[in-house]
Amino acid sequence: MAITDRLGRPLGNLRISVTDRCNLRCAYCMPERDYVWLPRADILHFEEIGRLADVFGSLGVDRIRLTGGEPLTRQDLPRLVQLLARKPWLRDLAMTTNGVLLEAHAQALHDAGLHRVTVSLDTLLPERFRELTRFDELGRVLRGIDAAARAGFSAIKLDTVVIRGVNDDEIVPLLERAKGWGAEIRFIEYMDVGGATLWSRERVVSRQGILRAIADAYGEVEALPAEGSAPAERFRLVDGTVFGVIASTTAPFCRACDRSRLTADGLWYLCLYATQGLDLRKPLREGASDEQLKTLLTGAWTFRADRGAEERLGLRERAPLVGKADLQNDPHLEMHTRGG
Ligand code: SAM
Repeated sequence: MAITDRLGRPLGNLRISVTDRCNLRCAYCMPERDYVWLPRADILHFEEIGRLADVFGSLGVDRIRLTGGEPLTRQDLPRLVQLLARKPWLRDLAMTTNGVLLEAHAQALHDAGLHRVTVSLDTLLPERFRELTRFDELGRVLRGIDAAARAGFSAIKLDTVVIRGVNDDEIVPLLERAKGWGAEIRFIEYMDVGGATLWSRERVVSRQGILRAIADAYGEVEALPAEGSAPAERFRLVDGTVFGVIASTTAPFCRACDRSRLTADGLWYLCLYATQGLDLRKPLREGASDEQLKTLLTGAWTFRADRGAEERLGLRERAPLVGKADLQNDPHLEMHTRGG
């Protein structure tokens, strides 16, 4: 039985964070020295994730994206992929990764039944990569994308967060490199999500600015028809190359948002900007039946009216969403805990 929220939005797309740990420290996501990690005992086992996934599936979810933290730092991830890929109700199983460990795992993930992979890639310059992420891993990321293509992933996507003064001079080189892999690149506006403590309005390169840089280099850019609830607007160059822009900061798409997020410790967030999540781990571990879990999910979703990004747009003074002290007190407010 598919359910809808108060704005008529279906429960369609579930992002499952499999770990809050990450092997990079991207300046737009994890700029701090120290983090408070989720207690290990709270992290859901694969079977628990599978059980919850089935309950979500019975309410209309038919697309799952595995994320994190860095999902490939979770031990034995292909086993979870295999477990989820067998679900008959699942139409799309994707993963977002920073690519550092992809070379080692691409084939196993493909063989386990993962449909699609998206790799975050913000720069092609090794020194800049090191400054932006605090690790000298660009080579491994690039080899990881090569390996994904070799393993048979046909619809590879690249996600690039564009930040003024950091990588806004690489929009065209990244687009060219994506073409080489046959990958579709999506340029993401820098978002003031939890954890982005260095965010400022001045550092956001808007959708318009991104499109201008591309039109300056390639000439005409054709807008493609919208694809359901997908966050990216898609465009085509004269040579047929397709790319996307995710304008979450200047032109958010809350009205079409069918996404929700499950953290690695089983808290369910109905909006990326929400301050509270619903604890599903507790009832799950206390023996709730599928029907009881369904009732819990249905009650929360049918009450949902979140429009977090649109509300942020209405603010006159816009600064990082959450202060450092609050992030230390509640790691669930972090983007890396919530899963991007
Ligand atoms: N570690 C994986 C990765 O790097 O793709 C998955 C988790 S990461 C939190 C998911 C996505 O969130 C990445 O594509 C990242 O670029 C994006 N992200 C994180 N902080 C962001 C911010 N402040 N603005 C826009 N996108 C952000």
